Amino acid sequence: MNCPRDAAVLETKSIGQTSVQTCPLCGGMFLEHGQLNRLADPTPGDLEFSTVDGDSFQHEDEYGPIDCPRDADIQMRKVDFNIDTTIILDYCPGCHGFWLDRQELARINEEVKRLNEAGAAVPDPLLVRISQFFWNLPLPH
Ligand SMILES: [Zn+2]
Ligand SMILES: [Zn+2]
Repeated sequence: MNCPRDAAVLETKSIGQTSVQTCPLCGGMFLEHGQLNRLADPTPGDLEFSTVDGDSFQHEDEYGPIDCPRDADIQMRKVDFNIDTTIILDYCPGCHGFWLDRQELARINEEVKRLNEAGAAVPDPLLVRISQFFWNLPLPH
């Protein structure tokens, strides 16, 4: 795979138990589906789900749009990490992978630490689905 920003060949790097594709030039990294949840510091809930679910996909960041390094013909979408943060990731609707630019993983872990300290719950897919189910029930007359 090549870096979607500068076309450098991505290198495999181990972060803890997880092997990720990283760019030696710009410090970005590609995360396969599920890898963000494994790489980020532990927190209750599902970070990938909360990042993608309910997002308008319309925010711009300082970096331009890119194509997924895995799916060359799919443009990644901009998504806010979790909720109400300034961390904007690139998400592939095809393979559900994420592109993290330099320092974004460190910023994610700062945010996770803040969430954990605040006792803030990261949305859990099952709980969100249950609440959406009740939300959609017709009001009693
Ligand atoms: Zn790069
Ligand atoms: Zn993809």
